[in-house]
Amino acid sequence: MLYQLEMQVALEAVREAAQLCMSVRGASSGLESVEKADASPVTTADFGSQALVCRRLRDAFREDGVIAEESASMLRRAEAAGTRERLLEAVRRHQPRATASDVLGWIDVGTDRGVSSRHWTLDPIDGTKGFIRGGQYVVALALIVEGEVVLGALACPNLALPGMGSPGVIVAAQRGEGAWQYDLQTLESNGRLAVGRSQHAAAMRFCESVESGHSAHDVSARIATDVGIRGNAVRMDSQAKYAAVAAGMADIYLRLPVSDTYVENIWDHAAGCVIVEEAGGRVTDMHGRPLDFSRGAALSRNEGIVASHGPIHDRLIESIRTQV
Ligand code: AMP
Ligand code: MG
Repeated sequence: MLYQLEMQVALEAVREAAQLCMSVRGASSGLESVEKADASPVTTADFGSQALVCRRLRDAFREDGVIAEESASMLRRAEAAGTRERLLEAVRRHQPRATASDVLGWIDVGTDRGVSSRHWTLDPIDGTKGFIRGGQYVVALALIVEGEVVLGALACPNLALPGMGSPGVIVAAQRGEGAWQYDLQTLESNGRLAVGRSQHAAAMRFCESVESGHSAHDVSARIATDVGIRGNAVRMDSQAKYAAVAAGMADIYLRLPVSDTYVENIWDHAAGCVIVEEAGGRVTDMHGRPLDFSRGAALSRNEGIVASHGPIHDRLIESIRTQV
């Protein structure tokens, strides 16, 4: 395997970060969110997760860039003293010798924004709103080489795949090597992932965001009806939707824009995309174009997202073309 070491480091990194998220969620404090400039929420756990993952990436692959969602700039302000303290406490449960300055420095490892031939992308908590309300969230990490996602890992603490007793799974893929699921605690492999096999639209299940501000629910309902899907959308936060498609729990993931100006970020799709493709599915934008991960942090050449198990994909793109 070409990226064996990278996969090992990625699995260990997202596991440690997910454990931090779970312990913050279980504790009495740390769930308070503050609003970022774009009005989205961020918690102690988002920062702690990014610190832990970036620390491991920097130690293992010092030359690689990291494009991660958060930065430490708001934590450096005087009024963030309380958050800084809770963050340090959360990180020290995993890295007991960390100092406040270490933690802020690790977070800022992820502030690259340029284009480079090899870099990682990280969403330390994808689905922060789901994390806060007890829904789905994931730690999402992917490696991009020459503009192509070659490896992705999603740690999903609240997701139970078919056949699992209790929730907590990592799904991961390496380009050309398939997609696999791992026990979130032990990292033991629990087998290969494969997309569903439904050929008839009536039997297909589609999923979308919980948040109507992230994906146009009314439009997706129209598309679903148009292609012959009978059931309602299964709504879940985060890239857990890609995991659901890769594992055959859902057949389709639709993300249709609610605004003309929003541009998707690579950390919200890179890991999910390679995992669905390696599980045998397809991922494009809403116009059927491949996702272009070569442009830095933004998917600036794409609009909307369609992921599917395959047979219905072209029909979905055609329906979007005529209905939107
Ligand atoms: P989801 O959990 O699938 O609803 O997606 C969560 C992600 O939606 C967050 O990580 C944000 O980066 C992203 N997001 C924020 N605003 C928008 C928007 N207007 N349209 C699409 N995605 C958004
Ligand atoms: Mg996100």
